[in-house]
Amino acid sequence: MMTTSFTETTKGQAICPYCGVGCRLLMESACGELIRVTGVADAPANLGGICAKGATLPEVIHTPDRLTQPHVRPARGEEPRPMTWADALGWTAARLREIVERHGPDAVAFYGSGQLDSEASYLAVKLFKGSIGTNNTDSNSRLCMASAVTGYQTSLGADGPPCCYADIDLSDCVVVWGSNMAEAFPVTFNRVKAHLKAHPGVELVVVDPRRTNTAKYATLYVPVAPGGDIPLMNAVGRLLLEHGAVEHDFVAAHTEGFGAYRDFLLHADWEGLVSAAGVPEALIRALADRVARSHALLTFYCQGLNQSTVGMWKNNSIINLHLLTGQIGKPGAGPFSLTGQPNAMGGRETGLLAQALPGYRFSEDPGHRAEVEAYWGRPAGTISTRPGLTAVEIFRALEAGRLKAIWIAATNPTVSLPDLHQVRRALSGAELIVVQDPYHPTETTQFADVLLPVAQWAEKTGTMTSSERLVSFSEQVVKPPGMALPDWQILARFGEAMGFSGFQFEESGAVWDEFIGLTAGRPCDMSGMTSGRLRRERHLRWPCPSVDHPGTERLYLDRKFPTPSGRARFHARLHRPPRETPDHEFPLILTTGRLYAHWHTLTRTGKSPKLLRLEPSPFVEVHPDDAAEVGLAAGQAAELSSRRGLIRLPVKINARLPRGVVFVPFHWGDQQRENVAANYLTIQAIGRIAKQPELKYCAVRLAPAPDALEPAATL
Ligand code: SF4
Repeated sequence: MMTTSFTETTKGQAICPYCGVGCRLLMESACGELIRVTGVADAPANLGGICAKGATLPEVIHTPDRLTQPHVRPARGEEPRPMTWADALGWTAARLREIVERHGPDAVAFYGSGQLDSEASYLAVKLFKGSIGTNNTDSNSRLCMASAVTGYQTSLGADGPPCCYADIDLSDCVVVWGSNMAEAFPVTFNRVKAHLKAHPGVELVVVDPRRTNTAKYATLYVPVAPGGDIPLMNAVGRLLLEHGAVEHDFVAAHTEGFGAYRDFLLHADWEGLVSAAGVPEALIRALADRVARSHALLTFYCQGLNQSTVGMWKNNSIINLHLLTGQIGKPGAGPFSLTGQPNAMGGRETGLLAQALPGYRFSEDPGHRAEVEAYWGRPAGTISTRPGLTAVEIFRALEAGRLKAIWIAATNPTVSLPDLHQVRRALSGAELIVVQDPYHPTETTQFADVLLPVAQWAEKTGTMTSSERLVSFSEQVVKPPGMALPDWQILARFGEAMGFSGFQFEESGAVWDEFIGLTAGRPCDMSGMTSGRLRRERHLRWPCPSVDHPGTERLYLDRKFPTPSGRARFHARLHRPPRETPDHEFPLILTTGRLYAHWHTLTRTGKSPKLLRLEPSPFVEVHPDDAAEVGLAAGQAAELSSRRGLIRLPVKINARLPRGVVFVPFHWGDQQRENVAANYLTIQAIGRIAKQPELKYCAVRLAPAPDALEPAATL
C-alpha cells in the first residue's frame, strides 16, 4: 500500500486499465511520474505476466494532450473556454435541468464504459436512473458483452462466468470459440500455452473463420463460416446425442428443457446444419469427439459469438453443449465468456446497462425498482418504468431528435460504434454533449460542449472486476494533472450541483461501501468485500456475502442455478443468417477485430512509440485470390466500401483468411487519418434482446484506390 508522498519514489499496485484479463501490475513512480510497470508475481490473473500494452503504460500517461481543466463551449462553432469546476458543473447542471424541464428526463442519456471503475459506474446509475429518472444509461460494454450477459441470464439464471483462470490448469480440453485470444487476452492465453506444453495430451480447439495467431497453437482448428456458429453448435449437440455422450444424470437432476432441445436437434436437417456451419463434416465429428472425450471442458468465447444479431442465441447454444455433457459446476470446466474491458463485469454488477439496476437487478421489475429506491432514499416512482435506450438506440434517438443531451464518459463512440457517419450526424444534432475524458482532442471530445478532465489509471483509487469475477482494488501512485478528477468525483459533484441528495462522499471507498450494500443477497453478492477489506486483501471473488467469507472461486459447484426451479435451461436455437449478407454489389464479408499491440481506439496505445513500432498503421487483410480478382497486390491502396461508407487502406495479403472475407482492425480513427476507421462500414443491426450490434459481419466491396495513401499520423 502506498504510504509516501507523490514527489518521492512510490510503489503501488493496480489492475491494468486495458483488457478484461485484469492483470495486477506493480507501478513505480519517481518525482510524480510513472516510471515502470511490471506484473505482480502472486496475482491470480497474471501470475507475474504482463503484455506489451501493460508494460508501456508509463509512455501514455504523462502526455501533452492531457486535459487539465474543465472547458465549456458557450456556443457551437466557438472554442471551448477553460472554467473552474464549480462554474463548469453549474453551467452544465443549468443546461441539463432546462432540457429535462422542457422535454422530460428521457431526453437525456448517459453513455459510459467498461473502463469506468465500479465507483463511477455506480454513481452514474444513481445519478441518471435514480435521480434524473431515465433508464437511458448504457455503456460501451453493449458493443462487446451484452449477448454474454443475456446468454448467461437466460441459460443459467444469472449473469457471470462460472469459471476462473485457474480452471485452465485443470482442463483437458480448452475450446476457444470466436476469440483471437492470443492477441486480445495474451496473458491468459500464455497460461493456456503453458498448460499445453506441460501436458501434451491436452487439446486446444480453436473455432474461428480466421486462422488467427490463436489457431497456430490449436490441436484442432475448425474454420466455421462467418455467422455459422449456431448450426455448428447444433451439429455438435446432435452428434453428442447420437453417440451417447450425454451426461444423463446431470441433465435429469439439474436442467430443464432437455426434451425440446433433444427433439429439435434430432429433427434438424443434418445436411442443412453442416452446410450452414460451413465446415467439412469430418471436422464437425472431430470437434464433437473432443467434446465427448473431455473430462474437463473449458470453453472461452468472446466477440465472435457476442457481436451478432443472434449473439444471445449463440451464447445459449454453447452453454447447451456444457449442460448436455455436465461440463459446468466442476473444476476445469465451464462456459467462460471473456470480457474485453477491465471493468465490463463491474458495469454489469453496478447496473450500467440500460435494462439493469445495481446488484443484478432489472429496471423493468417493480420489486427491484422499489428496493433500490428505498436504499437510495428516493420517493417511489423515481426510477422510470420505461425501458432505457441502449448504445446504438441512443445514437439513433439523438439523430431523430428524441434525445437532446448526451453525457459520454471514458469511451470514444465516434470510432467504436457501428456506422460512424450516423454517429457523427447524431452528435452534430445534439443540443448538449458532455464528455469526460483524460485526453483532448479525441474524435469524440471534438464534439463536446462541456469537457471534463479525468484522473486516469495510476492517478486514483478504485475497484474493478475482471473476466473471472475477481474484484480488485487499485491504488494511486501519482497525482492527476492540473484539475483532473476521478470519474466518480465528477459524477458526485455534478449530482450535488443538480441538487440531488446522496452524492456526498469523502473518498472512493465510501462509494464502494454504499454500492455493495445493494448486492447483499443477490447472485453477485459482494457485501462481505468492504473497502477496508479489499484494501488489505487486494482482491476477492464474488459471491462473498460476509466479511469472514473467503470469496467463491467457482460458481454452481452445488449444481444449483439461480432460476426459479434451481435448474439450468436448455434453449433450442435456430440458425439465423447475419442481417446483411453479400450480394453482387457488395460481394465480400467484412469482419473486424483487435490486434495485439493496440487497444480500442488508440487513445492510449496510439501514443506509445513501442506499440506503434509493432503496429504502426491500419490495413485491410485480404485473401490472395480475392485480391487478385480485383487487381490488388500487397501494399497497394484499396478502397473498401459498404452501403454506409467508404474507407481507404493498404492491403495485406493473408492466405489464412477464408475466401470472401476481409479483415480490418477496428482501432484506428480519424485522428490518425481520415477514412480509415472500420466502423464507417459496419452495420447498426442489433440483436432483439441483447441489443448488441453485429460488428463482425457486413457486406463490402473491395477495389483499387484511385490515389496513393497518406501515411497515418502519430498522436
Ligand atoms: Fe494484462 Fe490485458 Fe493489461 Fe495485457 S492488456 S497487461 S493482458 S490486462
